[in-house]
Amino acid sequence: MRYVSTRGGMVPQTFTQILLGGLCPDGGLAVAESYPRIGAAELAAWRKLSYAELAYEILHKFCDDIPAEDLKALCAKTYTKAVFRTEAITPVKTLEPGLHILELSNGPTLAFKDMAMQLLGNLFEYALEKSSQRINILGATSGDTGSSAEYALRGKHGVNVFMLSPHGKMSPFQTAQMFSLQDANIFNIAVRGVFDDCQDIVKTVNNDAAFKARQRIGAVNSINWARVAAQIVYYFRGYFSVTKSNDEEVAFAVPSGNFGNICAGHIARMMGLPIARLVLATNENDVLDEFFRSGRYRVRPSSQVAQTSSPSMDISKASNFERFVFDLVGRDSELVKRLWSKVDAGGEFNLAGTPYFANVKEYGFVSGSSTHADRLATIRRVYKDYGVMIDTHTADGLKVGLEHRQAGVPLVCLETALPVKFAETIREALGRDPDYPPGCENLESLPQRFEVMDTDAGAVKAFIARHTGL
Ligand SMILES: *Cc1c(COP(=O)(O)O)cnc(C)c1O
Repeated sequence: MRYVSTRGGMVPQTFTQILLGGLCPDGGLAVAESYPRIGAAELAAWRKLSYAELAYEILHKFCDDIPAEDLKALCAKTYTKAVFRTEAITPVKTLEPGLHILELSNGPTLAFKDMAMQLLGNLFEYALEKSSQRINILGATSGDTGSSAEYALRGKHGVNVFMLSPHGKMSPFQTAQMFSLQDANIFNIAVRGVFDDCQDIVKTVNNDAAFKARQRIGAVNSINWARVAAQIVYYFRGYFSVTKSNDEEVAFAVPSGNFGNICAGHIARMMGLPIARLVLATNENDVLDEFFRSGRYRVRPSSQVAQTSSPSMDISKASNFERFVFDLVGRDSELVKRLWSKVDAGGEFNLAGTPYFANVKEYGFVSGSSTHADRLATIRRVYKDYGVMIDTHTADGLKVGLEHRQAGVPLVCLETALPVKFAETIREALGRDPDYPPGCENLESLPQRFEVMDTDAGAVKAFIARHTGL
């Protein structure tokens, strides 16, 4: 399996070559040269596999330059009950016949990002050890991504993590999750500023090519291909859990931000998984809903991004969306390059009226959006009717999923976080505190380890250099 750039300007690479990288040299995203097709016999055999076994079978097709035995061991080490608190890894909760929640938030940070990030941590360590390299991960987070990366990389050989977050602006639970880590390779930097300031610092540091090379600065952001690949697995697992035979079709409802999660669903469908529909749900930040309804992709300036009660979906542009558009336009990289030259300049493009946009239906996509009031109503209704507490992001997905529900087609709503992470909105909706999963009860009273700094890229660089000794 080789990887090419959505913009056509990269010599085909192997999985291991793109694992530690970010954007392709031409600014595009790495995509598989073609998608493996899963035949009926293979699909039937996969139904019986454990999560770790299934992960190996799927990932083996995408990372064929990792020896089979090594990849098998990495999958077995990642998808365990010890890490995901349940034998099933991604159990299904059935609300009523034909309506299910696929639990993806049983990992260490109680959000679905752990599903991919835990594997990525092990893949990183493996690849670095093989090539005797070290890497220093520098990132900015407003919540889920940063903590998921830290829990995946804590204690790993060859990696340090320097994670910037806006001082005092994350929820108390999210802050405690990150700052209570005492591992020597994890560095939390609380920046006196907002999330955009943190991102600007990361950009400034990366623009210093000499510093970046000397410190071997890397990233684990949402465009990382291995993260998307690892997420394909739970679409297959979820499908098997709610069907009896491989003739049945199901629909998935996906709370979406950077289009990473649903991009994996798209790839699962391209591989031949019988997915009738992929229902894309946004919150008030409806960049993606606007595209799927109208053909217009209009990136918003960050001043126009609303702060909502499903904050992990508060995005101005969807960084993985280019991967889907590449397929939608028949893998015409020249066209993708033209479209994104407008996007990258802060502009927009419109595919309305083109044969490409007419294809959206053939790719199974439909969409919708939800508001704070919708989230509250959905959380209340699910709690009242089924006795199940869901978080705000999952509520966005369920609300939009139900709007597109088809008779006779099971609807699987992806749970992307546990309610305990967004306690304030749960209290507003239900008038009570969310349940704490076992082991998390005193998280907020544990000692915290972090460094407060001004919005100053120079100070961050000095901090990194001091701790790496490079
Ligand atoms: C990251 C995140 C999302 C959005 O997922 P994408 O892959 O960026 O579309 C949704 N919900 C939660 C809780 C998240 O952390």
